[in-house]
Amino acid sequence: MKKSLFKCSKGKCQNPAIIHQKYSGLHLCEPHFIEDVERKVKKEIRKQWLIERGDTIAVAMSGGKDSSSLLYLLKKIFHSRTDLEFISIAVDEGIKGFRSVTLRNAEKIAKDLGVELFSFSFKKEFGFTLDEIAAKGFEQAPCTFCGVLRRKVIDRKAKELGATKVATAHNLDDEVQTILINYIRGDIARLSRLRGRRNEFVPRIKPLRGVPEKEVALYALVAGIPISTVQCPYVKLSFRFTVKRMLNEFEMKHPGTKYSLMRGYERMSEFLPKEGRELLKCERCGEASASIICKACEIVERMRDGKN
Ligand SMILES: [Zn+2]
Ligand SMILES: [Zn+2]
Repeated sequence: MKKSLFKCSKGKCQNPAIIHQKYSGLHLCEPHFIEDVERKVKKEIRKQWLIERGDTIAVAMSGGKDSSSLLYLLKKIFHSRTDLEFISIAVDEGIKGFRSVTLRNAEKIAKDLGVELFSFSFKKEFGFTLDEIAAKGFEQAPCTFCGVLRRKVIDRKAKELGATKVATAHNLDDEVQTILINYIRGDIARLSRLRGRRNEFVPRIKPLRGVPEKEVALYALVAGIPISTVQCPYVKLSFRFTVKRMLNEFEMKHPGTKYSLMRGYERMSEFLPKEGRELLKCERCGEASASIICKACEIVERMRDGKN
């Protein structure tokens, strides 16, 4: 870590700063930075009423910096809440040279934190890996398929395991990217879904929603959470990746852009239509779905028919 010439801006604190938050104008030392991240997580949990008495919370674990920090933070914040139970779910998409590495990390972290980890795979659930999907050369980026199938496995397994909430590690950057992607596409339904809850699924909570990606990484580093830095080989093919780069450039030139986009969306979301459409039952798997055949089953059929 770079030694900073700046002192921490908090009160009379004389510690050297480890971060300069351009968007807030603050320089923060290690303890004050940790406090700041944890404050943001607690605020998000309060704001969204994310955790209720007696909850069993399934944390979706990939073993990367975000989900590892999330599990660590939840265990730390709620260590005295004996009414809560934490479990973790990992999904092996079948991405050679990538997922096996991060999954080993997920296993280690879950074990260190005393949380049971349940592992599943695309191969077992659907009969094929993400590498096999990518090899088909469909028009859409592999990430599109991966997102749908991951969500499906996590939803299904969380329910089977008796979880009452699923916690995902989406950080500020992820959320703001999703908002912008949906603005660009004018996807009103997805924009309203981003906040709402649907009763048919185990409700999803995103405690890291208010923390910038860089700060999640720095938090993991200072908290001594082992993280794997291997990147998914498919990421660069996605539309999201372009949006991510663009947002980072905005943030560099105009600090505060990401928070501003988030606040703007929150103000606007009051005017978005409430999702009134009844969910159907997928004809193939019988699970709740927005269409007659759910997105996951659609992918399974495409893989079987070899259509692209
Ligand atoms: Zn300080
Ligand atoms: Zn289905």
